[in-house]
Amino acid sequence: MSVTVIGGGAAGCLAAILLARGGESVTLLEKNARIGRKIYITGKGRCNLTADYPPQEFLGKVVRGEKFLRSAVYGFSPEDTKEFFNAAGVELITERGGRVFPATQKSTTVIDALSREMDLAGVNFVAGAEVLSATVDEGGFSVKTADGREYVSDRLVVATGGKSYPSTGSTGDGYRFAEGFGHTVVKPVPSLAQLITVEDVVALKGLSLKNVTLSAYAPDGKRLASEFGEMLFTDKGLSGPVALSVSARVNRASGVKLSLDLKPALSREKLDARVLRDFSERPNADIQNAMRALLPARLDAFVLKKAGVSPSKKVNSVTKDERGRIVDTLKGLSFTLHSVAPFEEAVVTSGGVTLAELTPACGSRLCDGLYFAGEVIDADALTGGYNMQIAFSTAAAVARDILKKEGR
Ligand SMILES: Cc1cc2nc3c(=O)[nH]c(=O)nc-3n(C[C@H](O)[C@H](O)[C@H](O)COP(=O)(O)OP(=O)(O)OC[C@H]3O[C@@H](n4cnc5c(N)ncnc54)[C@H](O)[C@@H]3O)c2cc1C
Repeated sequence: MSVTVIGGGAAGCLAAILLARGGESVTLLEKNARIGRKIYITGKGRCNLTADYPPQEFLGKVVRGEKFLRSAVYGFSPEDTKEFFNAAGVELITERGGRVFPATQKSTTVIDALSREMDLAGVNFVAGAEVLSATVDEGGFSVKTADGREYVSDRLVVATGGKSYPSTGSTGDGYRFAEGFGHTVVKPVPSLAQLITVEDVVALKGLSLKNVTLSAYAPDGKRLASEFGEMLFTDKGLSGPVALSVSARVNRASGVKLSLDLKPALSREKLDARVLRDFSERPNADIQNAMRALLPARLDAFVLKKAGVSPSKKVNSVTKDERGRIVDTLKGLSFTLHSVAPFEEAVVTSGGVTLAELTPACGSRLCDGLYFAGEVIDADALTGGYNMQIAFSTAAAVARDILKKEGR
């Protein structure tokens, strides 16, 4: 039987390899000149290819599609990804947070391994093949490319990715193909991107913070997200690991308020006592100087301004009410979310082919022989190797299902 795979990213390449190894005649169509243009930029060029956790723990970091992905992740787990790459000659290392990288610290090692395995398995790889349309009739699936060619096959795997970083080739074409087959597409929105604030934070640009908690609230006060860790101010808002994680939980909400706890280890009472102690040690200092022990430079002035206390005020003239406002601001520096940064700078796309119309093996419930794998489906996760693993797990589920249906 013949299979056409559209898209030479993580999902399309693995699906093609496993299908060809199983005896299928596989053609992989990729619009770029090479496979894996997005893989190249993953993990800051080092490619964090999976998250070294057992499936149950892994699924805890999935933002959308946790239930749906169970079968795929158990069927091809992070352990299986490691085994696949080890067998393909790629030595791996696991860093803090279960982040798995090639030992070379180069994403090209992963791309080269996929390319080699595609050749060895006998995948017919067609570079520069931009698919314009995909249809089905009695003769099978017909895929037409921009250079006027037509590819006909018994099965079709759409692995075109999402809309993030469109410069890599992932421009959301798969959504159009899916809709053409009658599928519903959940509105794609950027995820794992910086949080652009209404407030001007340019004065804090480049300042990074450790051990802070960033929370997000809906207009009715419901907490949407709360993340502890590292954060970075940019010229437009908040970035770094905690902001990116929060973005995944607020990208469909409006009127979101953000609250940054700069001292999460201390209760309000303990922090008040600490501020009182600092102040009593330096009664004649400017308040901004007295805050230096608590906060990095630049942030002290920002906090005092938010609290409505003049930075040049002497510590011994600060009222109890003013001290209370400073403590409140330290425990909840507030911002209004303007938006999550656009697809051009979003690590992943949230949304895509609706999961209700797919089998657990990512097969279409509407069109026999049609499959979707990777970021094109409505599933996404936090940073740390989870999104590549979703691409691998769903690709393997597709390959297993097709091979099983053919009794292989
Ligand atoms: C900057 C950045 C860093 C990241 N770092 C990590 C990380 O370290 N770890 C992690 O787990 N995840 C990371 N991700 C996310 C991860 O890369 C993706 O979720 C994953 O690669 C998606 O794989 P995919 O195969 O589904 O889609 P893609 O990798 O997007 O591949 C889709 C392919 O389809 C091709 N295509 C699209 N339309 C057509 C068409 N019409 N015709 C032919 N070909 C087409 C595209 O050119 C592309 O090659 C990162 C993402 C970005 C943007």
